[in-house]
Amino acid sequence: MTKEYKNYINGKWVASSSGEIFENTNPANCNEVLGRFQKSNKKDVDKAVAAAAKAKKMWRETPAPKRGEIMYKVAELLVKHKESLAQDMTKEMGKIIAETRGDVQEAIDLTYFAAGEGRRMAGETVPSELKNKFAMSVRMPLGVVACVTPWNFPLAIPSWKLIPALICGNTAVIKPAEDTPLTVVNFMNIFEKAGLPPGVVNMVTGFGPDAGAPLVEHKDVDMVSFTGSTQTGAGIASACAQRMKQYSLEMGGKNAIIIMDDANLSLALEGVMFGAFGTTGQRCTACSRVVIHKKVAKKFTDMLVERAKKLKLGNGLDEKVDMGPLINDKAREKVHRYVQIGKDEGAKLLTGGNYANGKVLKNGWFYQPTVFADVDSKMRIAQEEIFGPVVGVIACSSFEEAVDIVNDSSYGLSSAIYTQDVNRAFKAIETLETGLTYVNASTIGAEIQLPFGGIKGTGNGHREVGIAALETFSEWKSVFVDYSGKLQKAQID
Ligand code: NAP
Repeated sequence: MTKEYKNYINGKWVASSSGEIFENTNPANCNEVLGRFQKSNKKDVDKAVAAAAKAKKMWRETPAPKRGEIMYKVAELLVKHKESLAQDMTKEMGKIIAETRGDVQEAIDLTYFAAGEGRRMAGETVPSELKNKFAMSVRMPLGVVACVTPWNFPLAIPSWKLIPALICGNTAVIKPAEDTPLTVVNFMNIFEKAGLPPGVVNMVTGFGPDAGAPLVEHKDVDMVSFTGSTQTGAGIASACAQRMKQYSLEMGGKNAIIIMDDANLSLALEGVMFGAFGTTGQRCTACSRVVIHKKVAKKFTDMLVERAKKLKLGNGLDEKVDMGPLINDKAREKVHRYVQIGKDEGAKLLTGGNYANGKVLKNGWFYQPTVFADVDSKMRIAQEEIFGPVVGVIACSSFEEAVDIVNDSSYGLSSAIYTQDVNRAFKAIETLETGLTYVNASTIGAEIQLPFGGIKGTGNGHREVGIAALETFSEWKSVFVDYSGKLQKAQID
């Protein structure tokens, strides 16, 4: 019998109030059931939020260095269980084992970083305009934070939300994606083993409308941290705005790599392969547009097609496999629809463009690495997020035109430029309208000590990880200490 996993509420593993469950399967073979999970509803969300609200006072009064010590234990346990976490993640999400190890490593790095913040978390002391008076700022927790997360980074993204939220003194409830609940169950086990007090972190598994929506809308949730599609994010923004709660949104991307005529083409090829086909193109930072100078476009495209054809598809647990399956049937249908749209729009399909059925790939949600040429920036395949292994090559005549093409997007997450001209590189950094820009490197590969997030349709101005995450998960209090012993009046009260 397949194992059943419970919700984690108030430090206990509990069944959903309806008794309903759902199953998750391995996308590399579609029929291996990995676990049975609670199909939670509003009643379960109410219990989880009540637990988080009850733990709020105790946790905010726990000194931040002590909170940091628990986070340090969490990091150590993540290190200890890295391989089993990665293997479970590959089974439920499909990405190759090297990538799921990387996903766990991001959580480890961030947790150690945040644990240290428990001893820093600095405010400011500034001069007061009056004598015998101290003026300073201190960070305050927000309260109960709701985290709603996607399936493509099943551990890293939950850690990017939960760990900074907890170190800042908030309590939390997480609703993981329905396709990857097992990894977050494993994460809850780690919090429990690390000795996190009951109620500080809680998890309800289930579906967006049944469990995610009531969590976002709950009156006792003070802040919502969401990562997912722009469509879902827009709904969450309006639900939060109506209830006057804070929210942070990390959403879709349509990222591009510029390749100039002076670029090292072999290096650029590695960057495009990694950005377009890494994680089967299912990264918010995936490269789905290559904007290349026409002098080198043909040569580069030939190199790209040759390499794309050689990628080995299969079960990500096999270390020799380059690319795993898509997450589910719906995702594969969506990718295939976009390929048809690209063909209808007049783009030239150079390789791929179909389900990858074959002896090795029986039953999984695989899709061939796909390259389009003759793509125009106005085409839908150049404007909309496909979220699969599909890359379109757009030729341009100048650096200025390349920048205009990259910026011709409703998204603004990641961009990259390959050039050996330092002046162009800095001009690109200054003018590309994205939250991340890479020079002579791919669009993917965040580091947790730097802010992560996007502009335009990708985000709402908040950032994750690094010190910036403290801004997202805390608020400032200004403090005035008057030791003059008399009433002093500032010029403006
Ligand atoms: P999604 O469909 O928007 O789902 C994200 C999460 O929201 C899931 O847990 C989902 O539950 C939940 N949800 C769905 N409807 C909801 C509702 N009405 N109320 C509350 N929660 C709801 O996105 P996805 O397909 O999982 O993830 C892919 C997207 O995430 C892509 O657009 C990608 O670019 C984006 N992404 C962005 C970043 C970034 O940092 N910018 C990072 C990673 C991914 P279910 O699982 O049950 O549907």
